[in-house]
Amino acid sequence: MAGLLNVLTATQKPRVHPYIRQLLAKAEALHGADSGAYRGIHNQYFRMPAQVPGAALSERHYDALGDLPVGLERLYRRVVVIDLLSACSSECVFCIRGLYDPHTRSGSELSDIVEYLAGDPHLREVLITGGDPLISPRKLGELVDAIAVSAPGIQVIRIGTRLPVQQPAAFGENTYDIFRRHADRLSFDIAVQINHPFELQPEAIDVLRDLGRCGVRLYSQNVLLKDVNDDLDTLIELYDQLRTLRVIPHYLFHAVPMVGTDDFRTSVARGLDLTRRLTANGRISGLGKPMFALMTAVGKVVLYEGSILDDRDGLLTVRTEYRLDERQRWNPGYRLPESATVNAEGTLDVRYVDGVG
Ligand code: SF4
Repeated sequence: MAGLLNVLTATQKPRVHPYIRQLLAKAEALHGADSGAYRGIHNQYFRMPAQVPGAALSERHYDALGDLPVGLERLYRRVVVIDLLSACSSECVFCIRGLYDPHTRSGSELSDIVEYLAGDPHLREVLITGGDPLISPRKLGELVDAIAVSAPGIQVIRIGTRLPVQQPAAFGENTYDIFRRHADRLSFDIAVQINHPFELQPEAIDVLRDLGRCGVRLYSQNVLLKDVNDDLDTLIELYDQLRTLRVIPHYLFHAVPMVGTDDFRTSVARGLDLTRRLTANGRISGLGKPMFALMTAVGKVVLYEGSILDDRDGLLTVRTEYRLDERQRWNPGYRLPESATVNAEGTLDVRYVDGVG
């Protein structure tokens, strides 16, 4: 299997934009090499994956493929995921898509996707992801224009990105204009992944503000990472700053058990404990509090009382309310992953590899 995580694992050489190297140098100059700011950047891009197999062995974050056009994933009634391209400005070592084959959707593949969107009256929303869709405003604009014209049922376009904190200078009028020209037709939500407050440099903040001025709603989908943000003060500072910047807190994800990334993953129990302390200490606004979630093989699961059925030898069994028949109604080719079973209540239980520490 191809994929940049394999390349990073084999070469042990980071693949980052010069902006990230400058950010690391700035963290060292301002705070020193033993600071949280330095570790917060270094450990996302320069700490390399393990070369020997560990507990985390996933090669996909979840499986939502089936009998769908190439580049589409579907788990739900009203929303689909469009995997536009695989490129990013810098490679995050813990990336859930690190083992996917390199790709960019062709014009005819995008036409097939838009035709599918237009033909399903239940669909209301798309999530455009990658890679980083904002790295190619031309490709993204082509897709958004086609959806605006040919898929009248689609009302919301979500986009996942790290570009504001990986290469803020990449943002220009050609990107902002995508959102401006469709502002009356479509609602745009942009999910930014910002894992450490030091990533919020003035130039990145300018981009977030400019996106807001285009009518885009920003929300955060961050990852809990060992020795990056797994301490209460860092999380408080991060979510407090995001709140001030009008970024809606959404998911704080437990790091997915991608192969080679054990060193990046806390235990789920530690994530729950940090989230409990983060959300009930009076130091951040109620509007700044994220939900702690697992990205399991059957989809995202926010943990509540009774969610974890079993915890044995580093393997959790997690109860969900997802149903196989519901999945197959919207995606007839969907097959249950090996780690999931249908329980007596007809919903899905799924095994999930825990982290350590
Ligand atoms: S920017 Fe996003 S898609 Fe790209 S490597 Fe980082 S986490 Fe993965």
